[in-house]
Formats: sequence, structure tokens, C-alpha cells
Amino acid sequence: MPFQKKKIQFVFIIYWVLLAYIIAALVFWFTALNKQNVQMASYKIERLNINAISYSADIIQIEAEKKRKLAQYIGEGATFLGLILAGAIFIFRAVRRQLRETKEQQNFMMAITHELKTPIAVTKLNLETLQKRALSEQQQQRLIHTSLIEANRLDNLCNNLLLSSQLESKAYRMIQERLNYHTLVEEVLLEFKQRYPNVPITESLKKDYIVFADDFLLRMVIHNLLDNAVKYGDKQPIELHLKDDGKNCLLSVIDAGAGIANEEKEKIFQKFYRVGNDATRAAKGTGLGLYLCRRIIETHNGKVHLTDGKETGSIFTISLPLTRNS
Ligand code: ADP
Repeated sequence: MPFQKKKIQFVFIIYWVLLAYIIAALVFWFTALNKQNVQMASYKIERLNINAISYSADIIQIEAEKKRKLAQYIGEGATFLGLILAGAIFIFRAVRRQLRETKEQQNFMMAITHELKTPIAVTKLNLETLQKRALSEQQQQRLIHTSLIEANRLDNLCNNLLLSSQLESKAYRMIQERLNYHTLVEEVLLEFKQRYPNVPITESLKKDYIVFADDFLLRMVIHNLLDNAVKYGDKQPIELHLKDDGKNCLLSVIDAGAGIANEEKEKIFQKFYRVGNDATRAAKGTGLGLYLCRRIIETHNGKVHLTDGKETGSIFTISLPLTRNS
């Protein structure tokens, strides 16, 4: 990695040196031409016959030509400079974007390999243990439970990956219908409680909200937010609120973890973005969850807001337009 960084720095240094050289050459070209122009004009003036009747008129003509040429050089030089700068900015941005995407892809590949291998390895080990050993009922249940958690994680990951590529290639056909938001949230919550029986969660869900949304996608958004609250919530209780502001349904997932620094609040919605570096990241993930949440909610004409928790932690609120009950 440091080698690659040095290589990139070297490429950027060459880029800046080349750009400076081109601009310096342009300035040199301009001053040389202008000098030649001035010399030509004074040479022409020297050759004029001072006693000729047209002397003053000739001088005015030579000066006018000198000015015209200067204006021509300035015009051509400015156009060249403009084109060179526009090209340089374009190349710089394209290279920077490419580098960022490459880095994100690398992060993603590393994360995904780990994410795929761990659940498979855990489940395989659990199944082998169940097969080989005579275990008590309680031990068996524990192994089955951890295998189910890992299988769910794998399932979630595959859904995120599939959906991400489907949304990008526009292959996913959204089916928007009138949904009872309260029922949907309760069902997701029930699933969540079965998956994480030891995670304390409290809910306050107002009833009778109808939203016009894709059932599968909306469930996925709530799953992702709840999963994050578990992963980054420092084992503190989680809260789930469903209410409205008159126009929109507001579903908030509140955790009491470490929270998110202000400078990271926008970035975490970018594809593959994860806070910190690989060494400091304790929780597993791919950086796809929040990217998908925002993308899905925005296609539903809604918004995802992130605010700080009361003392610690984060509040993720998804706001969806309220559909009239009738
Ligand atoms: P993943 O969890 O797979 O890394 P996400 O897109 O869901 O990907 O989240 C992106 C990043 O945002 C996470 O890596 C984490 O650093 C940060 N994050 C998300 N949710 C929370 C949260 N509730 N509390 C603190 N940090 C969070």
C-alpha cells in the first residue's frame, strides 16, 4: 500500500510539473511574440520617410497594427490557457475519482471476502460439531442459534449486494403499493427480536399510517438501520419510534453507541464508505447498507435524516410522504 501511495504521489508530481511547464511555455511564447511585434513596429517606423506627407498616417497605421497583433496574441493565448486549464482540471478530477473508486473497490473486496467467509466458516463448524458430538439440548440450541444468526447475516449481505447492482443497472422493478406502515414495522421488529433475543429494544409505534412503497425495499431499509444500531450501539438499548409531522411518516431508529462525527455524517451514505480504517473497524460490514437506505428512500420521494442522540449515539430517521387513509 505505501508503495502504491508513493507511486500515485510520483504521478501527481509529474502531472503538476508538466502543467507548470506547459503554462510557462505559453507565457514564454506570448512574451517572445509580443517582443517581435514591438521590434517589427519600431523597425517599420524607422524606415519611414520623415518628410513624407503620409508620415503621421503611416505611424498611426503601424501602431494600430501593433495593437491588433497584441490583441490577437492575447486572445489566442487566453484561449490556449483556458483549454489547457479546462483539460487539466478534467483529467485531475477523472484521475481522483478513479483513484477513490479503486480504493473503495479494494475496501469492498476485502470486506466482502471476510463477510462471506465468516458466516460460512461458523455455520460449517457448528454443523460439524452437531454431527460429531453428543451434545445436550441446550448446547445444540446454542449452536443452531449462532448458525441462524450467521445465515441471516449472509442473507442480508446477499440481498444488499444483489439489490445494489439491480438498482444501479435499473433491473429492479419497484412495486409500489399502499402499505400499512405500522404492521410492516411490527413484522420487521418481530423478526428482529427473534434474530437478536438478547438485544434490548423499546418501541413506540403510532398506528394507522398508510405509505405508498415497495414492501421488500422498505423492510430492507428498516432491517439495515436496526442491524447498524446493533452493530454500532455498544450493546445499549435501542429505540424505535413511528410518528408523523402532519405530512410525513417518521420512523426513527435510535441507538446509544459512540455516535457519528460531524465530518462523517454525509460520507457514511456513500457507497462502500466505512468510518475509520480497517484496523480500527471492529464491526463487520461492507459500507453498502446506508447507501442503499438513502437510495431506496429517495426513490420513494422520502428522506433519511441523521442526528445525534440525546447523550450519545445516533438517530436515523426515515421520512416518507403520508398517504391518506381513505
Ligand atoms: P456497514 O455497516 O456495512 O459498514 P453502512 O453503510 O451500513 O455499512 O454504514 C456505513 C458506516 O457508517 C459504518 O461502517 C459505520 O462506521 C457508520 N455507521 C452506520 N450506522 C451507525 C450507527 N448507528 N452508529 C455509528 N456509526 C454508524
